[in-house]
Amino acid sequence: MRKKIVVANWKMNNTQDEAIHLVTAIISKINNLTLKEVEVVIAPSYLYIKDVIELTKGNLNITVAAQNCSEHLKGAYTGEVSSIMLHSIGVKYVIVGHSERRAYQNENNLLLKQKIDLILSNHLLPIYCCGESLEERNSDEHFSVVENQLNEALFHLPMELMKKLVIAYEPVWAIGTGVTATVNQTQEMHQFIRNVISKKYNSSIADSISVLYGGSCNSTNASELFACEDVDGGLVGGVSLAANDFVKIVESFID
Ligand code: PEP
Repeated sequence: MRKKIVVANWKMNNTQDEAIHLVTAIISKINNLTLKEVEVVIAPSYLYIKDVIELTKGNLNITVAAQNCSEHLKGAYTGEVSSIMLHSIGVKYVIVGHSERRAYQNENNLLLKQKIDLILSNHLLPIYCCGESLEERNSDEHFSVVENQLNEALFHLPMELMKKLVIAYEPVWAIGTGVTATVNQTQEMHQFIRNVISKKYNSSIADSISVLYGGSCNSTNASELFACEDVDGGLVGGVSLAANDFVKIVESFID
């Protein structure tokens, strides 16, 4: 059975006090739920990762992600943070290939491939984001764009490493816009992603990888999106800054 995962991507938000307050509120609400198979992943700014790790220690349902890491292992890269550093403080996941970094930091699939290799070799797990722009969807290129993003950044991995990945399908036109992909568009793309992985590797690997949806996910639309056969949870941006609404998204998994 695939793991259900809901990721809170706080992006560049919160002061330290706000971050501590937010994670404390999330923890207390999560503690009241019976979450058997759902993992809640918090991705704060680098600055607050240690605070969030401390506060969530001992909570089996909550783990921590970094929003990024360097493509280099260590050395003279002023301002960068390496996967080895993140592992040393207890981070579990790293978000890689978010469309905001592809757009504003010019990250391309080949650079992301380098990051993924370092993340995996330093015992962290990548959450790899893929997804098409509106222009690409309108010109019917969405499948080929996503296939290319998978192919160029991931498909060099041997099976045993590929299995460790989490994939997030995040159509760029749905991120932070209030426009959500329809249930049909979501299921169709998630199934496509699984088929592409299955062709490259095999169906048991494809069936074991959690594929999350991201893009204006909220407490109203989460349950129908998460009910899709090939959707295993969500990557949540804006709404993850409000503990109540975020935890309602997590609750979408509870019958
Ligand atoms: C995101 O940042 O990955 C995201 C999905 O943002 P939002 O939920 O705000 O659309």
